[in-house]
Amino acid sequence: MRSNRLLETVKAGDKIEMTREQLIDRARLSVLHLSKWGGLFHLSKFLTRKSLRILCYHNFSTDQTLEWGPGLCIHPETFRRRLETIHRGHFTVLGLDEAVDRLYSKTLPHHAVVITIDDGFYNTKVHAHPLLKSFGYPYTIYVTTYYVEKETPIFGLLTQYLFWLTDKKRLDLSGLGLPFAEGEFPNEPQTIRELTRKVMNFGRRQLNHPDRFKLARSLARRLGVEFEKIADSRSLNLLTKSEIADLAEEGVDIQLHAHRHRWPEDAGQAERELNENRAALEPLVKNDLKHFCYPSGIYKEEQFPYLEKAALKSATTCEGGLNNADTPRYGLFRIMDGELIKQIEFEAWLSGYYEVMHKLQAALGTSSGPLKKSVGRLALASQRLLGMTR
Ligand SMILES: [Zn+2]
Repeated sequence: MRSNRLLETVKAGDKIEMTREQLIDRARLSVLHLSKWGGLFHLSKFLTRKSLRILCYHNFSTDQTLEWGPGLCIHPETFRRRLETIHRGHFTVLGLDEAVDRLYSKTLPHHAVVITIDDGFYNTKVHAHPLLKSFGYPYTIYVTTYYVEKETPIFGLLTQYLFWLTDKKRLDLSGLGLPFAEGEFPNEPQTIRELTRKVMNFGRRQLNHPDRFKLARSLARRLGVEFEKIADSRSLNLLTKSEIADLAEEGVDIQLHAHRHRWPEDAGQAERELNENRAALEPLVKNDLKHFCYPSGIYKEEQFPYLEKAALKSATTCEGGLNNADTPRYGLFRIMDGELIKQIEFEAWLSGYYEVMHKLQAALGTSSGPLKKSVGRLALASQRLLGMTR
């Protein structure tokens, strides 16, 4: 009865809807803490000891980008805590190439972990590299090279960040050469979302890089945001060529992530992305370029032959999960981490608890028999409650 009353109240308005979300979140985290306390994380770690965990990070940040993109960014202190968890849990951190070889030859050590960082943001060098070095952990950076060559903030991210930063009540974007933005606009979420999308598309499709950058500068001025401060911080910039070469010199594994951060369905265009990415990185790195990460995690199985043709050994996705010898080498799962992920959730992923819950749900949910069916439904409900994504 109490839960029915709650649901009725929830329908009353957005404010209470938030409370419902918060309640679910709190319940979810309590279930995780209870599971850990009850030994289920330990049990899961044992059950998944032969699986490969591949961690995924993007940007590292101590400024406002952390609040703007907590899924994309992680604070260095949070990252340090994750590394301490890996260290204390006696996980074995391997380089990507060795881990992939040993995954498919079934010779992985127990509790093997690979650390990957996507895109090649400048702050990887500033914040992540010294930490990983102090732990003695090998890691891979998948570098997308278009903005490495341009040495400016990434236009799409910069546009989103500028609109997020503005505190102007009304936005006047007239005279910026944006055909869809004459007149004034109210600063409210729906309008901001629309404008951001339109400016990003316009810049990408209609302008060359110098004009795109000029547009971002004038847009910032119009939004009352300090452009130079963002540009100087390099928070949304990628590493330069010489910085990549320096990291490679220190033994960091550099791998492919497409030149323009896209993975076209057309075979010829996809090949061009790989070739241009390879051509930009090859003179800078020590290692062979034979591993790929799908930009934004977007791919289709029909594209696997493109990677085979390019003689690549693996490709990682943005789908959550652990890997076994039967995981396709061009469809490797990862554990997506960021400031948004609570420490207990990270531990649930790392221990293999989420993986065990998935397997349990799959095994029971698809079996016949009334008891198994109801247990399956329970597993599915708990999966939803726990917020596991795959
Ligand atoms: Zn990426």
